[in-house]
Amino acid sequence: MSNHAKVRWTLTAPIESLLRLQEKDRRLARVTREIRDIPKRREQVRDLLNASLAEVEAARSEIQRVQAEAKELELEAASAREKIGKYRLQQNQVKTNQEYRALEDEIRAQEREVRRVDDKQIELLEKVERVRGQLQEKQAKLREEESALKVDEDALEARVAHLEEEKTRLASEREALVGEVEPTWLSRYERLRARRGDHTIALVERSRGTCGACHMKLPPQLVHDSRNPETVTVCTFCGSMLYCRD
Ligand SMILES: [Zn+2]
Repeated sequence: MSNHAKVRWTLTAPIESLLRLQEKDRRLARVTREIRDIPKRREQVRDLLNASLAEVEAARSEIQRVQAEAKELELEAASAREKIGKYRLQQNQVKTNQEYRALEDEIRAQEREVRRVDDKQIELLEKVERVRGQLQEKQAKLREEESALKVDEDALEARVAHLEEEKTRLASEREALVGEVEPTWLSRYERLRARRGDHTIALVERSRGTCGACHMKLPPQLVHDSRNPETVTVCTFCGSMLYCRD
């Protein structure tokens, strides 16, 4: 739009009705946006719950993994004890001291192995207890979240129902308002609205002489013109229809 662009129309309907229409359109846009965003909010609530479910599952499989490891150690200890028994039998049959001592060394080594495995097993069983405690905490948290989710989902559902109702009401109120606006004005408004969205009509801040939409300082002539209810002036900066209340 060129500088000092000014469009004149004969005022056949008060700009007040266009302002009311704009207000209605803003509310409709807000309601429509919120309805559109609700599935996203629902998704976020479910993501939280899924994260907690994954934590519970991770704790469960950690317990299984550690228990399997402990089981494995049990077998190792049994095999070491079996070897010790076998070496003791062999000790009864050997002929030389040297052979006897060699078996004794083997037995010591296996006994060390048994102690190592036993210590490790105790460690693992303590770990299982610890993870079990964590699992219980996580399960309690999950149950809390599940009931919170239920409340949230019910609230969101009620919100959608309320918003849909409001949207229908606003749309029919808008329909009634549209009937009050002179068609030329209406089509100008609609064209501007497609580009300007919520700021189709801007009130001029009289004391400062600025546009209510872009807050730029307006030329005095434009401020003067915007006070004339018979014409429509347009902001040279942002293209909003300017209106000044006396
Ligand atoms: Zn402006």
